[in-house]
Amino acid sequence: MNHNPVKRLYRLKQFGEFGDVNPSITDSSTFTFLKGETMEETFLGQTAGCFLYSRHWNPSNKYLADALAAMESTESAWVTASGMAAITCALLQLCRSGDHIVTSVTTYGGTYAFLKNWLPRYNIEVSFVDITRLDQVKAAMQPNTKVIYTESVTNPLLQVSDIPELAKIAHEHDAQLMVDNTFTPLIMAPALNGADIVVYSMTKFINGKNDCVAGAVCASKAFTDQLSDVNNGTAMLLGPVLDSLRSSSILKNLHTLHLRMKQHSRNALFLAENLQKEKLKLIYPGLPNHPQHELHKNLMNEEFGFGGLLALDLKTHKKANRFMRKMQDAGVGYLAVSLGYFKTLFSCSGHSTSSEVPLEIQKQMGLSDGLVRFSVGLDNNIEEIVVKIKGCL
Ligand SMILES: *Cc1c(COP(=O)(O)O)cnc(C)c1O
Repeated sequence: MNHNPVKRLYRLKQFGEFGDVNPSITDSSTFTFLKGETMEETFLGQTAGCFLYSRHWNPSNKYLADALAAMESTESAWVTASGMAAITCALLQLCRSGDHIVTSVTTYGGTYAFLKNWLPRYNIEVSFVDITRLDQVKAAMQPNTKVIYTESVTNPLLQVSDIPELAKIAHEHDAQLMVDNTFTPLIMAPALNGADIVVYSMTKFINGKNDCVAGAVCASKAFTDQLSDVNNGTAMLLGPVLDSLRSSSILKNLHTLHLRMKQHSRNALFLAENLQKEKLKLIYPGLPNHPQHELHKNLMNEEFGFGGLLALDLKTHKKANRFMRKMQDAGVGYLAVSLGYFKTLFSCSGHSTSSEVPLEIQKQMGLSDGLVRFSVGLDNNIEEIVVKIKGCL
């Protein structure tokens, strides 16, 4: 499948007011009006192109949001100060007390904690399913289900979601499909495959520099209007506004995303193919032995590969820790959480980014105590890196 997200992004011509090739950075929290009437209309959301106050919209955030919407092929987008802000604001906008959500049990740890611990306090019920089992998803649907939530490729087990089928199930039940595409920007196009709302942690691949935290919601204009509604919008009322200095730097990084994704994927595939010979359990969607390899192939934008994440099971937490320390000493990369960085990052998921998931649930979902998740970097010498990693095993 070729969705041409990069072409859509390039076709977008965004300039500053003096023809600056990079749009000027908004350095204002508030904006003047020539007439009181225009201000009133702007408050009511009736004036296009007017800015009111930076928590609502500001030009820098609008440029980045427009670029993301173009990339994702959605009508609109909204940027936030973190990925968690994007996820929580979107979910809270869709659900109220008495509603129900069906979610993949394997998700980012913070998302899991929000769904498991926080939402039930407000009487929003959540069912956790194995998202690769469509029968389980169907069985979990209830008359009050408002959302099916999943990640295109889940964290940290790298299960691939069947987005077209999940969208069908959601829509048959008058629910919406919300997909976190953080691991697979450009590779997967959830919105084109039927997802209603696509969320991102831009902290990861989209920005790619690990110098800031940011998020985005890509959806219909009706939905971003709801998010930004001055009376009822979560993005407006909970206030997770992204700073405009940051949004302008993320916009510039977004324009190299296609090159970076190709290199992350190329390096990860090379690593996966070589480490496969080590008789350890290895999870990478690009390997034919991955349970959803064919599904990934069917959904992906081929030129960007199978992504930069792979997981290697060292069996025990102790072995994982020793392996990671050795790799850091050998110069393979850094023992750190997060992903999508230009250097390789590795961490033991069960004891870090998924530590919010109780141990018995980790076991149930097949998350081993010694699972080391790699975010493979942009290394130009991946052949040498493989030799180093093998030396650490
Ligand atoms: C990091 C991450 C998040 C949370 O994003 P923040 O920017 O850290 O708030 C959500 N989903 C996934 C898949 C992530 O990797």
